[in-house]
Amino acid sequence: MLKLPENFESYEEARREGFLKVKALKERGTPVVGIFCTYTPIELIHVAGAVAVSLCGTSDVPIPHAEKHLPKNLCPLIKSSYGFAVSETCPYFYFSDLIVGETTCDGKKKMYELLGELRPTHVMHLPQGQDKDHAFRYWREELVRLKEVLEEKFNIEITEEILREEIKERNHERKVLLDFYELGKLNPSPISGREVNETMEALGFQFDRRSQCNFIEERTRELKDKYENELKGTKTNRPRILITGCPVGGVREKVLKTIEDSGADIVAFENCSGVREKMVLVNETIDPIDALTEKYLNVSCSVMTPNPRRFQALDEMIDEYEIDGVIEVVLQACHTFSVESYNVKRFVTEKKNKPYLYIETDYSKLDMGQINTRINAFLEIL
Ligand code: SF4
Ligand code: SF4
Repeated sequence: MLKLPENFESYEEARREGFLKVKALKERGTPVVGIFCTYTPIELIHVAGAVAVSLCGTSDVPIPHAEKHLPKNLCPLIKSSYGFAVSETCPYFYFSDLIVGETTCDGKKKMYELLGELRPTHVMHLPQGQDKDHAFRYWREELVRLKEVLEEKFNIEITEEILREEIKERNHERKVLLDFYELGKLNPSPISGREVNETMEALGFQFDRRSQCNFIEERTRELKDKYENELKGTKTNRPRILITGCPVGGVREKVLKTIEDSGADIVAFENCSGVREKMVLVNETIDPIDALTEKYLNVSCSVMTPNPRRFQALDEMIDEYEIDGVIEVVLQACHTFSVESYNVKRFVTEKKNKPYLYIETDYSKLDMGQINTRINAFLEIL
């Protein structure tokens, strides 16, 4: 089993230390914007002089607070996020000057109405599909509106020039992160899926973006050297797994750790904890608002109908990462991913001829035994 590096800051450590960092930033007068989703055009937030922090809940601890206001049968990510906010136990929410949400799934968009009672909240209206001409115009208007809201809130003018610079910088970050993710293409992989997932999610709580990039570049170099010197040419009988579906930060131990402890390597993530947003760069040669509109409209989430880009990504990733089996992780009551899973299963088993496992779960520990049994049975057939 691959070990985490000694200098590795675990997700929990990063989150804890992030509290102090965000407090220090606030004391220096830096605004904080809380975000929830990959559709958020983060470049606009950065050029408004603010830091963006992820408010997506990954713990079951605050869920009882949420269930006082929200139905039990709701996605745990939404309940956890709202529970942290309403119980005032999330310092990131506490320090947020503004929340930026998007009308993605029904649960989240109704949650934003409630969050709006606790903090200033701006909700971007996302089109339901990507390919109609008016979808681009509609989403562009939403980006322009967000830019105006940020300018007014933080008393700043966002010029085309600074936006172009920010797009370049953010594209550089995407390339660095993609290089790190693509270590999974090496066979045998020099990195565990758990490390990839923890590293990526921990980055959401580290605000010095240059040192984040340096850390990832250094770790990528180390692991490439490890592959060249120790692993290249060797064989492993551990099956190579691709994870698809909902974000998995809240089920990291229950699902990801179980898969790897049971003898498989997670080498790719086709989800928002993985490459979903990183694969396509923002066009640096056109009007920056047009470029950001195009980029974020094309995120391949199941909230879009239809959602062909997800199947294109799966098609390429299954080949490029030499995948032996696909595990789809869907959070309880996430209807869009749950309904889309029927097509994902057909695509994986019929078009790509690979075994597929569907796991629907929440953040509790109640189904750990059952998940363990199902994962082990699936790995036996690979
Ligand atoms: S899965 Fe979809 S709705 Fe959830 S964070 Fe990703 S893009 Fe947003
Ligand atoms: S996992 Fe599904 S239900 Fe939960 S917030 Fe994301 S899109 Fe919505």
